[in-house]
Amino acid sequence: MIPAPFEYAAPETLEEAIAALASGGGDAKLLAGGHSLVPLMKLRLATPTLLVDLRRVPGLRGIERNDGTLRIGAMTRHADLQERGELGLIARAAGSIADQQVRNRGTIGGSLAHGDPASDLPAVLLATDGQVTARGAGGERTIAAAELFRGYLTTALADDEVLTAVTLPALDGWGAGYQKFNRRGEDWAMVGVCALVKRAADSSCEDVRIALTNMGSTPVRARAAEDALRGGPFDAAAIAAASELAAESTQPPSDLNATADYKRHLARVLCGRALTEAAA
Ligand SMILES: Cc1cc2nc3c(=O)[nH]c(=O)nc-3n(C[C@H](O)[C@H](O)[C@H](O)COP(=O)(O)OP(=O)(O)OC[C@H]3O[C@@H](n4cnc5c(N)ncnc54)[C@H](O)[C@@H]3O)c2cc1C
Repeated sequence: MIPAPFEYAAPETLEEAIAALASGGGDAKLLAGGHSLVPLMKLRLATPTLLVDLRRVPGLRGIERNDGTLRIGAMTRHADLQERGELGLIARAAGSIADQQVRNRGTIGGSLAHGDPASDLPAVLLATDGQVTARGAGGERTIAAAELFRGYLTTALADDEVLTAVTLPALDGWGAGYQKFNRRGEDWAMVGVCALVKRAADSSCEDVRIALTNMGSTPVRARAAEDALRGGPFDAAAIAAASELAAESTQPPSDLNATADYKRHLARVLCGRALTEAAA
């Protein structure tokens, strides 16, 4: 439970943070809330030689809305999102993370950069078709949600890049649902389902997006269920039929909490509940 020795830097600008990160080669790590990295260091599953703390870097925290787009700074805490109920899906998902102590320190940037498929916010980014902004020594780039998550705890971010912001469409007029199943309130999701639905004037389903947490090595979209609903009726029968397809093409790993089959069952049940919530 004692981390390996490491150096610590607390830069006061983004440029200094990027330079410090680059100076450590692949052995330096950014520190945000520390709620994923520090436990890994204590177990010696991560042994960075340099920690670059982002907490003094200005401009990385806050939520802005412009022209139907939400821009969320990478150091925005889960608690900051949770308190903004008008943000809809992301506020709801952030409020379901662990307990208040974790939400008071954990950040959206840390959660997305960590790339844990059992985390709640990666599926939200995928469902909303959001993107992240990353800055490194080579400049700034944006990475779409569908490109960000590459594998278990692996993202498209380079070793010398800082995730600076998250951009999401506000999706005004869409209904949203988030359903998560765990044994205790503070546990990670055995399975989670985000659903976003846009109804047409006649109440049919104009568009729909469904993303799954912990149903593979990355968050995934439930495309078969989406295709079954899009352009058709959006009633209890249609929701039930589409939910049966929620686990199509997924390969959830069995773990201590649930077998792969049980996770597929949960995906179908939670998809129905999330769509019903979105409909309401
Ligand atoms: C008891 C417990 C229960 C939890 N339960 C849940 C849960 O139910 N759902 C859930 O979603 N999460 C859960 N978490 C994880 C929590 O949400 C973490 O806070 C989050 O995953 C990581 O955010 P962080 O700010 O703490 O990142 P850190 O731990 O500081 O960093 C995580 C990783 O991201 C990198 N990183 C951090 N910020 C950046 C950045 N801006 N740019 C590039 N790389 C960066 C770090 O170098 C590190 O590799 C839980 C954590 C604990 C301790």
